[in-house]
Amino acid sequence: MKISHFGISSMTALAASMAVVMPFQANAQSAMEQQYASLPTYAGDDLGVTVRDGVTTFKLWSPQAQEVKLNIYPTGRNSAPIMTMGMLKGDNGLWTATVPEVLYGKFYTYHIYQDGRWRGETPGVWAKSAGANGQRAAIIDLSLTNPEGWDADKGPETKSPVDAVVYEMHHRDMSIHPSSGIANKGKFLAMTEHGTTTPTGEKTGIDHLKELGITHVQILPSYDYGSVDETNLPSNQYNWGYDPQNYNSPEGSYSTNPSDPAARVKEMKEMIKAFHDAGIGVIMDVVYNHTFIGEGSNFDLTAPGYYYRHRQDGSWSDASGCGNETASERQQMRNFMLNSLKHWVNEYHIDGFRFDLMAIHDIETMNEIAAELRKINPDIILYGEGWTAGDSPLPADKRALKDNAYMMPGVGVFSDDIRDAVKGHYSRQEDRGFATGKPGNEETVKIGIVGATNHPQVDYSKGNNSKKPYALSPAQVVNYVSCHDDLTLTDKLHKSMGDTVSIAKRQRAAKLAQTIVLTSQGIPFIWCGEEVFRDKKGVHNSFQSPDSVNAIDWNNKHLYPELFDYYRNLIALRKAHPAFRMSDAKEVARNIKFDRVNVPNLISYSILNNANGDRWREIKLVFNGSEMTQTVNVPKGNWTVIARDEQINPDGLGTAKGGKMEVAPVSALILARE
Ligand code: CA
Repeated sequence: MKISHFGISSMTALAASMAVVMPFQANAQSAMEQQYASLPTYAGDDLGVTVRDGVTTFKLWSPQAQEVKLNIYPTGRNSAPIMTMGMLKGDNGLWTATVPEVLYGKFYTYHIYQDGRWRGETPGVWAKSAGANGQRAAIIDLSLTNPEGWDADKGPETKSPVDAVVYEMHHRDMSIHPSSGIANKGKFLAMTEHGTTTPTGEKTGIDHLKELGITHVQILPSYDYGSVDETNLPSNQYNWGYDPQNYNSPEGSYSTNPSDPAARVKEMKEMIKAFHDAGIGVIMDVVYNHTFIGEGSNFDLTAPGYYYRHRQDGSWSDASGCGNETASERQQMRNFMLNSLKHWVNEYHIDGFRFDLMAIHDIETMNEIAAELRKINPDIILYGEGWTAGDSPLPADKRALKDNAYMMPGVGVFSDDIRDAVKGHYSRQEDRGFATGKPGNEETVKIGIVGATNHPQVDYSKGNNSKKPYALSPAQVVNYVSCHDDLTLTDKLHKSMGDTVSIAKRQRAAKLAQTIVLTSQGIPFIWCGEEVFRDKKGVHNSFQSPDSVNAIDWNNKHLYPELFDYYRNLIALRKAHPAFRMSDAKEVARNIKFDRVNVPNLISYSILNNANGDRWREIKLVFNGSEMTQTVNVPKGNWTVIARDEQINPDGLGTAKGGKMEVAPVSALILARE
């Protein structure tokens, strides 16, 4: 998300400074926590509304409410209720109302009375769809929203998360530019269109993704978020969507008709089915860590105080940097996250989740999520940002932090290590990295290469960010050099290398950077459009920038065919060779051997022993991030040249005999032998 991330070291310092005042805080905190812990909770998955045998039943969890009213509306907005009734208090903090009618097509809100006042109408936290702008929950028959063949729909088999090649995408970035040739621009349906091309005939949309060869898309927030006015779509507002409003409904502005609550559900399912039919899995970005607004949010209007953390003085704590943070350690928030995730898996066939600011959540919750979701889909992919954007009342040893990844074996974390080491610091825009000639990043790049696992030749004390191997397995690490946050790789290379450096030279650096990512152990991850050198006009925090900044200009695919081919071949290389996809840390330690080179911006290593069942006995990889041609010693033998001087071909570019070999400036040399 858009917030600048504190490094682990600064978080540790904050936690240490808090410890001084802990005795006083602990008492007040524990009194509040005891009060919340004493409230009854409900783990059932039938909160919200269910329709069965001609009866519509409403259930709301609101353990401290003194009175609750239910309103039924004929439309999603701008109408008076056709029915208002009191709800009955039952066990488990539940309030129930039943109407002996099938109310499909109608909308509802709850209104609770607590602590001497009516709190304000809310669709509750279990709206599975909603009226335009999400103020009223919709009552729809979800079974009627299924596309043809939905029962047999299934994501790709993914034996280990390291077998995935993840492509992060925003619905609007992908299709809104005229050059996309797509009809449903900025909509879920955009990715259901086949045969779309640029004006010069290059494939776009889902055909482009198939051509590129990625295995999974990671879609930016696609639940109902608050920042885009769904009643004014012609104004073409843009937002990343890190402002959750209704967690269990798709976003209305991505549907062709936000006023029709079935349309957003149906169209999102059609998009997912189109991806699945193309062999591509769908990972969804989820933002349970905070809500768009704190006071007046659906959480706040149904159970005031309960779902959020507060500071000692009663103010809202703010580890999200967005004004509030949720409290996953409280049982009903944990139940909510679990049931919400299950809803997306069961109803939408989502194949994985990316947890925004995951360290706001507690470790126990993340482990429970991993265990429960793997019961439904053993292949599900789970990872998140192992950091917060500010301090939290949740103690650091309970946070789902990158450094605590070893306590969450089923959950992965993003590697800011490889990210910053390869391209330069994420926020210091002029800073360079390994691929752009700055020395001193070699050991941190090696941390990336071994997937942040324990390796006898990697000296973690020289790591720029992490000082210890934090992953139990490469399957716990997402390797990347750019994402929606911060400068795109294109813009980063521009800013750090300078205006006078040619596009061709910047693309050399891009190829080297992504070669390191795509050949490293772990889960490789790229940001949409990098394969065509998309930029964001130098805007780093483009969360609400216009399309003119965020849209991918697909004409680039015509301008830079060699760059696109490089990405395509690089992905094909990874997919064809299990040696790049070891999921066992011991295998990584045994099969990866670094060469002593002692030259700045030069790394040379081998993947040995037909690693992970590879037909290649040995793969030699040399990365030269310097401006000079370097010479390395390669064992004599019959080698196939896979990559050399910014060319790559998994089937081979030629042969080599080993011995002293030259590596061109800012490029990768990859050799293989059987
Ligand atoms: Ca919305």
